[in-house]
Amino acid sequence: MFLQPVVRCKNPDCTTPSAARIRLPYPNPPRIGATPPDWPQNDWKLRLICRECDHWYVYEKKDVQWAPFSYPLADHSGLDFWSVELECAAPNCGSRTRWHVLDNSQLSETELLEFVLRADPVVVCENGHPLSLAGVGSSSAQKAMSV
Ligand SMILES: [Zn+2]
Ligand SMILES: [Zn+2]
Repeated sequence: MFLQPVVRCKNPDCTTPSAARIRLPYPNPPRIGATPPDWPQNDWKLRLICRECDHWYVYEKKDVQWAPFSYPLADHSGLDFWSVELECAAPNCGSRTRWHVLDNSQLSETELLEFVLRADPVVVCENGHPLSLAGVGSSSAQKAMSV
């Protein structure tokens, strides 16, 4: 058994059991019985979109808990933790934001991008431009081993 960092979806209407805990990637997670690492850092922030209810929130250190699992997330073939970087296409902006999704349905990169741009509420850049309306200049998606 391994300890893995998890967060709870912050949407009070998200009732599906799998949404209760969203696993976060963590390299070499400790075995159960070990003291959980002091992770993440105090200024850590993560934009995470719930795969079940499409709602996104910013998660912080206080939202992170450690929970036991049979094996590390990295060894779980049906779960992919994605990090999607979007560049804002609004004039004179160009800010880049990262969006994270724990996918359980083998989304393609195109489907993943569509999922992010359909999130609720509309995803916005650092300067508040709605990315699904203002547009995305460039995007990249990769499976993340850490956040
Ligand atoms: Zn949710
Ligand atoms: Zn912008």
